[in-house]
Amino acid sequence: MNLFSAKEITKHYANVTALQNVSIEVPQQSIFGLLGPNGAGKTTLIRIINQIIAPDNGTLLFDGRKLEAKDIFQIGYLPEERGLYKKMKVSEQSIYLAQLKGLSKQEAVKRLKYWFEKLNIESWWNKKVEELSKGMQQKIQFVVTIIHNPKLLIFDEPFSGLDPINVNIIKNEILNLRNQGATVIFSTHNMASVEELCDYIALINNSETILQGKMKDIKKAYKSNTYEVLFNNFKDDIKSILNPDFTLIEQNKDEDLIKAKIQIPKTYTSNDLIQTLLPHVSIHSFIEVLPTMNDIFIKKVNEN
Ligand code: ADP
Repeated sequence: MNLFSAKEITKHYANVTALQNVSIEVPQQSIFGLLGPNGAGKTTLIRIINQIIAPDNGTLLFDGRKLEAKDIFQIGYLPEERGLYKKMKVSEQSIYLAQLKGLSKQEAVKRLKYWFEKLNIESWWNKKVEELSKGMQQKIQFVVTIIHNPKLLIFDEPFSGLDPINVNIIKNEILNLRNQGATVIFSTHNMASVEELCDYIALINNSETILQGKMKDIKKAYKSNTYEVLFNNFKDDIKSILNPDFTLIEQNKDEDLIKAKIQIPKTYTSNDLIQTLLPHVSIHSFIEVLPTMNDIFIKKVNEN
């Protein structure tokens, strides 16, 4: 079941086409990566989902029916361009923003205190926003984004400006929120975090969706029958022992070991490769090399 879907969305700005018949399906309780090069149309789609702008054409479904104005209380959005009022106190500002999401003041304070404690930032409560670093302010904005327990969370580049420790903290919180039932749409250029977090992805290029589905299936579909083998140093030319149908993509030698990347045609299996090598070398490790989301992104966008 999808928590959100966009069907055939088109959006023009004056004479620029930002989205052309874009459809996405975001399954309930999943993390969905919205990917694409700069100018692809991601922010436009995110603004449409948040009802900041309206599409020229297309349908938006939320929780099994048409998206309505009141659904905004079921959505938490952390935009890429974000800012807090510098002169306000962290507590006042957080309470104010939580109230805008429909919480009573009492409930806002209760939930904020819970999150400040959880993230170990209680000491920031009485500080002014301007006393916090950019990364610290971002943590506050993360808390405010999720404070009303929305069904759908939308994070645009949530890790930009955070140090590695805080990236990890926020990553884990995003995974926890998903595990507790939230659905997450997440836009980023950081492909490593896509690999770690996303269940599903959609790749938008030039205002159109060019790839969409379960990340695991996409990675499988793009695999190239390539294996990385680590074996003991072998004096002769490695190519001389390989089946001529196999391709030695690269090899790195150090004193004792050779690491070779070998691609075999689809008509062969990994066992065929192992059998070719075994009479000549002693194998230390053998793994299939799956394409990274970075490889797939670059390949698909260049093909287009
Ligand atoms: P992304 O978020 O993927 O980088 P955007 O959705 O911001 O892409 O932009 C998609 C296209 O729409 C780009 O060509 C961009 O220049 C154009 N665009 C975005 N916002 C506006 C706007 N307010 N007015 C005119 N053109 C815009």
